[in-house]
Amino acid sequence: KTAAVWFRRDLRLQDHTALSEAVKWAEEHNGKLFLFFQLNPAFLEKPADFRHHYFFQTLKAFMDNCRDHKIAFHLMYGETEEIMEMVIEKVPEINLFLFNEDETGYGKERDDKVKRVLKENEVDYWTFQDHFLHGAREVKKQDGSLYKVYTPYYKAWSKLEKKQPAEIDLKKLSACSVSIQDLPDTGAEKLEEMIGSLEEREDIGEEAALKTLKEFTDEKLEDYHKKRDLPAEAGTSRLSRYLKTGTISIRTVYHHIMQTEDHPQDTGKETFIKELAWRDFYNMVYVQFPNSVKEEADKRYRSIKWNTDKERLKAWKEGKTGYPIVDAGMRQLNEEGWMHNRLRMITASFLTKDYLLDWRLGEAYFAEKLVDYEPGSNIGGWQWAASVGTDPVPYFRVFNPVTQSKKFDPDGEYIKKYVPELRDVDVKRIHEPWKMSSGEQKEAGCIIGTDYPEPTVNHSEQRVKAIEMFQGI
Ligand code: FAD
Repeated sequence: KTAAVWFRRDLRLQDHTALSEAVKWAEEHNGKLFLFFQLNPAFLEKPADFRHHYFFQTLKAFMDNCRDHKIAFHLMYGETEEIMEMVIEKVPEINLFLFNEDETGYGKERDDKVKRVLKENEVDYWTFQDHFLHGAREVKKQDGSLYKVYTPYYKAWSKLEKKQPAEIDLKKLSACSVSIQDLPDTGAEKLEEMIGSLEEREDIGEEAALKTLKEFTDEKLEDYHKKRDLPAEAGTSRLSRYLKTGTISIRTVYHHIMQTEDHPQDTGKETFIKELAWRDFYNMVYVQFPNSVKEEADKRYRSIKWNTDKERLKAWKEGKTGYPIVDAGMRQLNEEGWMHNRLRMITASFLTKDYLLDWRLGEAYFAEKLVDYEPGSNIGGWQWAASVGTDPVPYFRVFNPVTQSKKFDPDGEYIKKYVPELRDVDVKRIHEPWKMSSGEQKEAGCIIGTDYPEPTVNHSEQRVKAIEMFQGI
C-alpha cells in the first residue's frame, strides 16, 4: 500500500502534521510514502517578483534537504487535477492522500477541487490544520459564533491548549519514501529555469528558519515590546517569510518562545505571542469574509468612492511621496520584498487617508511584492489601516506621517538607509526636509523639488478630507 503526501506551503521535514501522520500510517501498515509538490504552470506565468523567487528558492532548498536525507521527493509540473490523476494512475497501490489543508482563498478552492478528484477515484484523504496555532473554527464565542474583534478573541485564544510539535524520524521516512521512475520529471527543469542565475539567498530553508528563531529568542525577545516598533533597530523576529512558506512550523515557534527562560515580567514574550494570535485572528476573519479581498468587511463603507489616481499610486509605489518615512518604507519593500510592520501601517495609512486611494490597490501591490504575503494578514492589515475591517483603527484617528517618523525613527536612521538622497540632512530636518532653508539644502546636497520631491499632498488638508469622506457615508 502507498500513501501520497502532498506538500504545498509547508516545505519542511520537521513538525509537519501531514508528514508525521503519514510516517505513523506507513509504520502501522508497512506501507510506502510518495512525497510530491505540484508546480502549477499559472504560478510560473506570473511576473516573477521577490515573492515568487523566494518561493522557488525555498522549494529548491527543500528538495536539496530531501536529497541530503535520502528521502525520495517528486516535483510535478502541470495543472492540479491533471497531476492528481497522474499520481493516482502511476503510483502503484495508492489508496490514501495526506495534506495540510487551507481554510481560505485560492488554497481552499484548490483543495476542494482535489478532494473531488480523489472522491471520484475512490481514493481516501486525510487533511489537517497545520498552518495556524488555532484554525479558524477552533476559537468560538459561547454561542458558537466566530469573533470579529481581536481583544475578546485573544482572551479565548490564549486559554486554549496549543498542540505540541510533531516529531518525525527522518530515517524511517527515508526508508519508506518511494521514487517512481515512470513519472515525467519536468518540474525540476522548470524550477531550475525559473531560478536561473538568481543569487542564492541565505534566508531560505529549515535550517535558516530555526537559526532565525533561536537568534531572535536569545537576543531580541526580552526587549521585543520596546523595540518592535523601531524599524532602525530590527527588533522583530523576521520569521514571517518562513511561516509563509512553512519552512518553520508555528507550533515550533510558539513552544520555543514559551520555553525560553523567564525574563522580568515576560512582557517581550507576551507581546510576541499576541502577534502570533493576530495571525490566527486574520485567518479567521478571512474565513468569515471570503470576499474581503474585493470588499470591505464593514458593510457601511462599501459605498466609499475611493480615488484611483494613477500618478499618486505611482509616487506611492516608487517611494516618491515627499514624506521621508513613507518613502523609506516603500523603498524597503521594493528593494527587499519585506517591510517592517510599523512601516506597513504608516504606508497603508498614507495611501488610504492622505492619498485617499483605494485600499485594494495597496493590498494588491503588497501581494505582488511581499515574500511573506499571506492573504488573511494582508487584507486584514489593509482593512485595519483603511478603517473598513472588523476591528480597524477608527477613521478619525489618522496617522500623521511626520509625528510617526519622529516617534519611531527619531534619529532618521531608517530613513537614511532607504532614502539616500536625505543621507546628509540634519536630524532636525530629516522628518520634514521641505522645511530646510536653501542654505541647508545646499549643505545637505539635497535640493527639494530636484533631488527629493516636495510633499505631494498637504497632510492636514488630506486628513480633514479623509474624515469627511467617512462621515459622509
Ligand atoms: P514579528 O513582529 O516578529 O511577529 C512575529 C510573527 O507574528 C510574524 O512573523 C507574523 O507571522 C505574526 N504577526 C505579527 N504581526 C502581525 C499582524 N499585524 N497580523 C498578522 N500576523 C502578524 N503579515 C504577513 O505575514 N503577511 C502579510 O502579507 C502581511 N501584510 C500586512 C499588511 C499590512 C498593511 C499590515 C499593517 C500588516 C501586515 N502583516 C502581514 C503583518 C506584519 O506586518 C508582519 O507579519 C510582520 O511585519 C512580519 O515581520 P516579523 O516576522 O519580523 O514580525
